[in-house]
Amino acid sequence: MDQNLPVVVVGAGPVGLAAAAQLLARGLTPLVLERGAGVGASLRDWAHVRVFTPWRYNIDAAARDLLINRGWQEPDPEGLPDGAALVRDYLEPLASVPALAPHVRFHAEVVAVSRLGFDKLTSTGRENAPFLVRWRGPAGSEEQVVARAVVDASGSWRQPNPMGVDGLPVPGEADAADHVAYGIPDVAGAERSNYEGRRVLVVGSGHSAINVVLDLLRLKDEAPTTRVFWALRRNGLAKIVGGGADDRLAERGALGLAARRAIDEGRLDLLVPFAVERISQQEGSLKVAARLAGDPVTLDVDRIVVATGFRPDLTLFRELRVALDPIVEAPPALAPLIDPNLHSCGTVPPHGAAELAHPEPGFYIVGSKSYGRAPTFLMMTGYEQVRSVAAAIAGDHAAARDVRLVLPETGVCSTSIGAEETSATGCCTPTRQAETAVPTSSCCGSRA
Ligand SMILES: Cc1cc2nc3c(=O)[nH]c(=O)nc-3n(C[C@H](O)[C@H](O)[C@H](O)COP(=O)(O)OP(=O)(O)OC[C@H]3O[C@@H](n4cnc5c(N)ncnc54)[C@H](O)[C@@H]3O)c2cc1C
Repeated sequence: MDQNLPVVVVGAGPVGLAAAAQLLARGLTPLVLERGAGVGASLRDWAHVRVFTPWRYNIDAAARDLLINRGWQEPDPEGLPDGAALVRDYLEPLASVPALAPHVRFHAEVVAVSRLGFDKLTSTGRENAPFLVRWRGPAGSEEQVVARAVVDASGSWRQPNPMGVDGLPVPGEADAADHVAYGIPDVAGAERSNYEGRRVLVVGSGHSAINVVLDLLRLKDEAPTTRVFWALRRNGLAKIVGGGADDRLAERGALGLAARRAIDEGRLDLLVPFAVERISQQEGSLKVAARLAGDPVTLDVDRIVVATGFRPDLTLFRELRVALDPIVEAPPALAPLIDPNLHSCGTVPPHGAAELAHPEPGFYIVGSKSYGRAPTFLMMTGYEQVRSVAAAIAGDHAAARDVRLVLPETGVCSTSIGAEETSATGCCTPTRQAETAVPTSSCCGSRA
């Protein structure tokens, strides 16, 4: 393998750029290929959302070194940026650092990765062959580059889960696309005119759904005819209120508590458990046929926001030998550590190149995409992943193995979230000794 070949990093999000910084720190040459016109394309889509991890958790160490050498003013470590500030105050300055800037290409959408001269079936000598990365350039041109390793940090933001409880779009969902938004639309800001005074159904039970619901309630304060229906697909009220006051990330706890207050004050219609079965259009609005607690119901709404998580795009590496857990779609050694059937809190033991390895040496999936369908990824997890991966690619296996990560705890660390969601009597137990002791009543009590 030619050691002078670049390491291709797919995606210029926070983790892709951190990977590039870590590779540079190791004397390796990164080539970041980003489909968007600039860095942080996913974050720009949720620019209005304030994150719940303060700045001190959001900046990679190697990236900080590059920035500080250029006289960058680090934001207040305790401040909470929104998506826009993460891009403006961190990712854009980082990508402009002269040591990194020549290694980042925009309008470069990676469409496939293979081994040069080796299709998936061909084995002998395979591990010595470099990678072939094919990408679509500006104006649709087909380009390719040869690489010594590939780090896929392309996230999963562009593959939102559909509305159906079975993981499929419900009949009529695609046809209703003009009235359905996925993720966290800026309902009280840029897209206000679509939501003001409308009947809006929000489907989902994570922090994204809570963000949308709270924004809609703010809109309702100014436009009282706005009506908010919040549909949880499963019984998961404990999950909604999150760690509350016990959450080590105060902002995340506050979101859960605000949601709880809104429910208690009757400011929204809570539908639980709610399974949409079909959507039909009628004179500009939508008729939603569903089951509420098992009984058939219909609901008339104007807009639907689907905030039911994301799934990774597996097509990029169709021609590589990649092993993924069949449930979580994460690397098999990582999946049991983050499986939402087993964990609710995002606590994950430190992990790096070893846990992220595939049968294809030199190929790694990192960042939010490495979590597959699990929703608990944090940037700092990704930064430790890419520190370890860069060390492994550089051949420093001791440093690659020496993974360290202390994640903030939440008050709902649970080993039985699956049971909790379907049983009214299940009780939460912490997965491990938390940094702060987590009273189990903070979770079980909220369900009472
Ligand atoms: C609303 C929201 C709030 C969050 N809040 C927090 C928080 O408070 N704290 C925290 O630690 N984490 C938070 N996260 C989770 C996570 O840290 C973010 O999702 C983060 O953006 C993940 O970074 P990433 O680099 O892995 O992926 P992304 O940021 O999604 O970056 C992937 C990049 O790859 C590019 N790309 C995709 N496909 C291709 C392709 N084929 N070719 C080339 N480029 C491609 C995309 O355009 C994008 O720029 C939040 C997530 C969301 C959605």
